[in-house]
Amino acid sequence: MDYLIKALARKGRVRVYIACTTKVANDAILTHDLWPSAASVLGKTLTIGLLMGSMLKGEEALTIKIDGNGPIGVVVVDSNSKGEVRGYVGHPHVHFSRENSLDDVTTLGYNGYIDIIKDLKLKDLYQSTVPLQTGDLAKDFTFYFASSEQTPTLTSLGTVINEDNTAELCGGIIIQLMPDAREEDIEFLEFKTPILSKFSELLSEYKDLKMILKLIFGDDCKTLEKMDVSYHCNCSKDKFARGIASLGSAEIQDIIKTDEKAEVICHYCRKQYIYSKDDLEKIEKESKR
Ligand SMILES: [Zn+2]
Repeated sequence: MDYLIKALARKGRVRVYIACTTKVANDAILTHDLWPSAASVLGKTLTIGLLMGSMLKGEEALTIKIDGNGPIGVVVVDSNSKGEVRGYVGHPHVHFSRENSLDDVTTLGYNGYIDIIKDLKLKDLYQSTVPLQTGDLAKDFTFYFASSEQTPTLTSLGTVINEDNTAELCGGIIIQLMPDAREEDIEFLEFKTPILSKFSELLSEYKDLKMILKLIFGDDCKTLEKMDVSYHCNCSKDKFARGIASLGSAEIQDIIKTDEKAEVICHYCRKQYIYSKDDLEKIEKESKR
């Protein structure tokens, strides 16, 4: 089972979010038939989504959209505070490797933007856009936190994808300095950066996330919360019906006349919904209200 830990380290001056997301990555691979480097990019983005989602409260939710103008196309991930995440990519059948490792940068591209849209259950959505710096997701999100959220952050992500297109490992960590952090905390993290940057090696060596925290922070790390995380899509026939209703009465009548039914496939979970003529007539009636 995948899980995530929120912790406070260094006498509470450093906040940590760490997650193991191997099953989430495998669920995404199965759902979308991802090829290895596409699996690596989506697996890492789903992990970031879960880590950022765990910073939210209650019914709050967020969407990450990344378009690096690379062969994978757009990468979209939705997550929430409950440890649920879902996502998709424009082109799942993409694979680039270099020197025996997956080439995320070529897959994603580095000439584009990261959009973060947060639904904080206020009147307006909070939206923030930063240009992609490198195409390396950990570095680009470190830049996002520094520039958009004014929070000094260290982000590390890791995946190991097997030749048979299954994820051996997937996970990530976000470490943030609290406002009362000291110079010595910054130096400490700089000192730890080389081990942290190889997150997939840490995951393969220490299966338990608490052991990774102990390796980094010693005994000065207090777990605040441990939560299960999973790939989860909350789509339903009713939700897509609302989408069809928004097309308007004339358009729905046109569909009834030409096709007599409608078929919708969810981008996130590939589930198919079929609307019969009766369904469509009902939706059409409701769309007039
Ligand atoms: Zn779905």
